[in-house]
Amino acid sequence: MAGKRALVILAKGAEEMETVIPVDVMRRAGIAVTLAGLTGKEPVQCSRDVSICPDASLEDARKQSPVVKEVLKDQEGRKGLIAAVCAGPTALLAHGIGYGSTVTTHPGAKDKMMDGGHYKYSEARVQKDGHLITSRGPGTSFEFALAIVEELMGAEVAAQTEPRTVTSDLPKTAAKC
Ligand SMILES: [Zn+2]
Repeated sequence: MAGKRALVILAKGAEEMETVIPVDVMRRAGIAVTLAGLTGKEPVQCSRDVSICPDASLEDARKQSPVVKEVLKDQEGRKGLIAAVCAGPTALLAHGIGYGSTVTTHPGAKDKMMDGGHYKYSEARVQKDGHLITSRGPGTSFEFALAIVEELMGAEVAAQTEPRTVTSDLPKTAAKC
């Protein structure tokens, strides 16, 4: 299970929680995360005026094309995991990724996501279908992140990671944070 990597694409106006929580949880679980700025490596102003400094520009993080469509197509082609939260899944629609799959989005993005009827819609907090994981918003970010951890690192690592974030009942034994 060693050597798992994730590329997180950060665009201006992204939600802070939906960015930081998955990056944090994935790193706790031992996934090597690169937080890549869509338009460069300068700090990115998020939706509630918190600025987040990317590790690299998407261009530098990718040896191949830095274009989001190409990133997604490459990942889909190798059946690599693609995960999107809130309105993020609408980028899958825009680029023709995973048509026919069952997905969820923020409730406010449902109509846009279902435009054209390319997906089956789920109201699950986290929806997994094949190599796609989608989720609903800031409040589902931990569950979203843990689903990614489970997919990449296995259920055991996810079960070890979850208590460290205290996202549910306190663990019976003290977990290190
Ligand atoms: Zn959001």
